Amino acid sequence: MADHRELARDMDLFHFEEHSPGMVFWHPQGLRLFRSIEDFMRQVYQAGEFEEVRSPVALNRSLWERSRHWEKFRQGMFVVGGVKEDIDESALSVISPDYALKPMSCPAHIAIYQSRKRSYREIPMRLMEFGICHRNELSGTLSGCMRLRQFVQDDAHIFCRESDIQSEISNFLNMVKQVYAAFGYDQFSLQISLRPSQRLGSDRLWDKAESLLIDVVQSLGQSYKLAPNEGAFYGPKLEISLQDRLGRSWQCGTIQVDFNLPELFELAFVNELGELERPVMLHQAILGSFERWIGILLEHHGGSLPVWFAPTQVAVASISERAFAWAETIFSRLKQLGVRVELHNQDRTIGKKIRELSKRKIPLIAIVGKQEAMNQKLNLRCLGTPKQQEMSLAELEHKLADLSVASFFPDAHKLKLCDRRLI
Ligand SMILES: [Zn+2]
Repeated sequence: MADHRELARDMDLFHFEEHSPGMVFWHPQGLRLFRSIEDFMRQVYQAGEFEEVRSPVALNRSLWERSRHWEKFRQGMFVVGGVKEDIDESALSVISPDYALKPMSCPAHIAIYQSRKRSYREIPMRLMEFGICHRNELSGTLSGCMRLRQFVQDDAHIFCRESDIQSEISNFLNMVKQVYAAFGYDQFSLQISLRPSQRLGSDRLWDKAESLLIDVVQSLGQSYKLAPNEGAFYGPKLEISLQDRLGRSWQCGTIQVDFNLPELFELAFVNELGELERPVMLHQAILGSFERWIGILLEHHGGSLPVWFAPTQVAVASISERAFAWAETIFSRLKQLGVRVELHNQDRTIGKKIRELSKRKIPLIAIVGKQEAMNQKLNLRCLGTPKQQEMSLAELEHKLADLSVASFFPDAHKLKLCDRRLI
């Protein structure tokens, strides 16, 4: 089995440097892959009626103190700014106070919620961010993309009423099922992680949050296992672990029920009676860290990524100079259609071109020679098979049009992302 770092090298996706341990240097092909996944997830969240937001990477210490991350998660955060000992006393007033790079976006989304008075008409309010997070993991625990110090996560927060929790969790599981299937995973398991010893809030609130979560999962007919002590410090977690082709289990998705941060930040909205009511907060991620998701995907597919999110979907390769113009026509047309396509009109043998493109795991190669140029045809070759299929450019366009996001849901005809009542 190939390690994702080796695959990334062969496919020219990303690399690591000693001076930035646990942080990824994305190459053009790698960022294309990242963006195709991000674009897809943006559509998924839009269909789920989430609003995308963006918040600062560095937030003042006072905010982290209020959220209690400073007390409970301080070791896991990168702190920046602060008073330097070698600086003149008179300069102290202009020195920034401590900031921490956010390890997650919760307090930032709370700030957006609190930026004005909220009404029950806005509830449930669903915010999501492709949040750049930093966690100061021990250097010995860093391992390729699987454990990093900087990563992007689909960081979502739902501000809702207690009576909304069931439908929100059911929607979350629905999104998880569809997204995981689209990426080629058909098996996953559920775990409910209960209160840890280091936690916020009263046992009464924990009792309520835990039993709510267990009741919802049971009512949805999902099997699960319980994990004592593994919850977040603010609430219990429902965690989703997918199973890859090698039988390994990876925890990726999560939704967490939180009564504590709304108390600490005194969150409120005006209800139908004109009274102030406190919302519940649900913390949610479907993929978790994008970098880790990509690492798992690369190993799961052995680098042979499905066409819909492959960084380069089609390479047009000419056999001889006499096919250059026709190859260029195919390339321009596909590019115009939004296909991620490359043109290989260099003076190299077709055998060499195919070997190089196959090493980079490009899923489709459109081969054109003198004959094809004359007949306005091409030979399509799929990665992993020596067979070729002759077709017209219109036929290739038709094939690629079928590769729209919706067609990658195995049960696209039955499941619609915008239907919020599927489970
Ligand atoms: Zn959160």
